[in-house]
Amino acid sequence: MSNMKMLWLSLLTVMMPSKTLVMSLPLWNPVLPTQPHAGPSEADWEFAEEYLKHFYGYQPKPDRRKRTADNSIDADWTTGFCDKVQEMQRFFGLPQSGELTKETLEVMKRPRCGLSDVERFGDTMRWKKHNISYRIAGYNLTIPASQIHKLFKAAWKLWSNVTPLQFRKRSRKEADIVISFHSGADHKDGSPFDGKKGILAHAFMPGFGIGGDVHFDADEDWSFNSTGFNLFAVAVHEFGHALGLSHSSDPGAIMYPSYNFAPNYEPQLSFRDVKDIQHLYGIGSNFAELSSKNPPPRTPDKCDPDLSFDAVTQLQQEILFFKDRFMWRKHHQFEETKITLISSLWSDSVPYSLDAVYENSGRNFLLFFKGHQYWMLRQLNLEEGYPRNIWDLGFPSRIKSIDAALHFTNDHYTVFFTGHECWRYDEQQKTMEGSPTLIKQQWPGIPYPIDAAVFYEGFVHFFKGNVHYKYDSNSKRVVSTGPANDLLECKKDNNEILMEGR
Ligand SMILES: [Zn+2]
Ligand SMILES: [Zn+2]
Repeated sequence: MSNMKMLWLSLLTVMMPSKTLVMSLPLWNPVLPTQPHAGPSEADWEFAEEYLKHFYGYQPKPDRRKRTADNSIDADWTTGFCDKVQEMQRFFGLPQSGELTKETLEVMKRPRCGLSDVERFGDTMRWKKHNISYRIAGYNLTIPASQIHKLFKAAWKLWSNVTPLQFRKRSRKEADIVISFHSGADHKDGSPFDGKKGILAHAFMPGFGIGGDVHFDADEDWSFNSTGFNLFAVAVHEFGHALGLSHSSDPGAIMYPSYNFAPNYEPQLSFRDVKDIQHLYGIGSNFAELSSKNPPPRTPDKCDPDLSFDAVTQLQQEILFFKDRFMWRKHHQFEETKITLISSLWSDSVPYSLDAVYENSGRNFLLFFKGHQYWMLRQLNLEEGYPRNIWDLGFPSRIKSIDAALHFTNDHYTVFFTGHECWRYDEQQKTMEGSPTLIKQQWPGIPYPIDAAVFYEGFVHFFKGNVHYKYDSNSKRVVSTGPANDLLECKKDNNEILMEGR
């Protein structure tokens, strides 16, 4: 889409009063259908403005957004604001509409680190020595001190494992890095905390005085186990800042700004984090041995020729490609397809490493399959009573999981693929129709077991390993084959190329 058109769309949507906003929605349908008259509220606008000021360096003009009697809004304000929304959407892998969609607001409202996403510390912001001391200042949490000490020691170790850095705890004054917990708004550094959720912690880049210091919001529900925020994960992230790292838009990185950890998750440095910290301090002597045993996980790359998918589904005007904890969202209006976390859309409602996903657009739900369980979601929310067993759909007990699912909207049925068989499920009667048929008879030319299947632009697209099969279901033949990632249009932006050059 041309920039002009994008701008025009953005202007239109922001400038319209709320009733007209709903009318104009078909131009850009957010992935989650907006409820009637549920445009952003005045409080949402203000929240978004504050968010963009804080994290994206948005500087509104002094006479910004004057709502006049005729409801018109200053056009300068509109473009500046939309550009920043777009920048934020790009960072988080959202479709870059520049509009304050419901899901954009959802992502903005996720708990996160207090540091900016656009300020770069630069390579000079690092400690000029390898022995770094830290001190844990007073705190009044219910967690025992010994546990806190152990946890921070372990968090530093993740960074010292991959670099020549050494961290020593000091119990009295005079440490490079002071770690502390602060409750309530002002704690005399100009960056107040905000009570529960919202901003969880912040840190200062390396330097004298407050430089390198790490502050946690004492009002959060910090935890070591199954509830609340994983203190270890947040500590590893903040310590990254204290060593000189900025935020990463790689959703697999520990330096990703929003909180994305299940309470029991065992945080680790990703390949990206390791590259970035080694760029500042060099490679630790134990690194080769440690990484051969336990290599830092790489975030899937849409340009990887060996890329395969767990599941692929249509979702309104988008195609979603799932891989591990991640997904790519392809929308025909937006050229760039960026990677994001599954949890950025559905929080922790659905598991990762899925087997199959499909949308029933007529009845407005999504089903996610993993193992013998499935989850039903409407918009962002998990329906009550889920997950359920796949046997409830009419599969015999010998079927332990599903490979792929393909929904036929007009005919109201879904085909499930399991091993060499396929099953037809009647969505209206909610019954499995008879016994399974063989894939080689129903879909000649398609290998099995398959990984994923989806309808797109009049064809069925099958995926197995790193191969994509485009299938014409009328003539029952494979029309073409290509790399599995060919629908993702592998085009790296300059920033990504720069990052990899390191
Ligand atoms: Zn951060
Ligand atoms: Zn602070």
